[in-house]
Amino acid sequence: MPELLPRARSSQESIFARMSRLAVQYGAINLGQGFPSAAPPAFLLEAARRAVGTADQYAPPAGLPALRDALGADLGVDGADLVVTTGATEALGLLAQALYGPGDEVLMFEPVFDIYLPQARLAGATPVTVPLRLEGEGSWSLDLDDLRAAVTPRTRALLLNSPHNPTGRIFTREELEALVALARQHDLWLISDEVYDELYFGERPLSLRTLAPERTFTVGSAGKRLEATGWRVGWVACPPGFAGNLAGLRQVASFCAPTPFQAAVAAALPIARETGFYGGLREAYVARLDLLAGGLRELGATVFRPSGTYFLMACRPGWEAETLVKRAGVAMIPAEAFAANEAPPPGLLRLAFCKSQAELEEALVRLARWEKAGG
Ligand code: PMP
Repeated sequence: MPELLPRARSSQESIFARMSRLAVQYGAINLGQGFPSAAPPAFLLEAARRAVGTADQYAPPAGLPALRDALGADLGVDGADLVVTTGATEALGLLAQALYGPGDEVLMFEPVFDIYLPQARLAGATPVTVPLRLEGEGSWSLDLDDLRAAVTPRTRALLLNSPHNPTGRIFTREELEALVALARQHDLWLISDEVYDELYFGERPLSLRTLAPERTFTVGSAGKRLEATGWRVGWVACPPGFAGNLAGLRQVASFCAPTPFQAAVAAALPIARETGFYGGLREAYVARLDLLAGGLRELGATVFRPSGTYFLMACRPGWEAETLVKRAGVAMIPAEAFAANEAPPPGLLRLAFCKSQAELEEALVRLARWEKAGG
């Protein structure tokens, strides 16, 4: 019998899928995987109902013109520079295929959103991680000298995620300017994963593209923005002149993203903007963040408060994700899921607060019960 290649053999069930499966199996509250438990907004669902039956065939690989226009208006970029993808996941995979190859190195920050590593390796490249370090309660610091020291003649690209999953960190203007200076000095591509661009709790994050439009590919996700992660609509805003090539590559991956959902997102984007939907979402999430963070602190956990995303990281030595999902009835993601080279401190976990208030309260009750029973 022929054998599978090692790269296929090494693909295992992700920790996110595993924790969701265990949550169902053990009747646990799922604060693991990052998907909202509420239904998407009514204006999005209505747009989808109208689209099914009218927009059912293949879309152009670069995306439905209506969606590229709506996205262009929303993001302040030319619609011709946009490529619609099957979720941000595919966008990041396409960029890996387009921008790196064997022998290349790709810089990224650790803790690292897990798919960046295999996507770089599948492209034949080597991921090189630069650590964000924990500095007491509430902050993850970046030492720009670490980043500069990580650049070699093989470095091709720098992959940034801000607001950052899992830490919730938002990179400052000064840091982004330093990244751009480094990219220009060494002629690197910049990939900016901004899927949480509307989920911030202070000042609006700066988009890297505004500082280096000539070399930045910006990735976004309708699933994250509009609370419909299963719809699989994402996008890449390319530097001028590159969208055609990227669309060519994506047409051999999945040809196009689901057409009715593209049409629905096209209709929903201006409504979301005009009705202040994102602001409402931020308000709701800050309230849930406060609830969860307060409850965790009462249980003795150290909470690293995020500046954006719907995740927080908390540390409680003795807490272990596998035991908690099975015995305490609360699913979380262990920090090891985001580790590449640095061993996370014991008891460091990522919790999603894009869940209902009732679920968060119940999770806290269960954790308190578990603690009282001796853990
Ligand atoms: N980037 C980051 C940082 C994410 O957290 C996620 C989803 N968890 C994605 C990309 C993928 O987004 P999508 O669901 O649109 O594929």
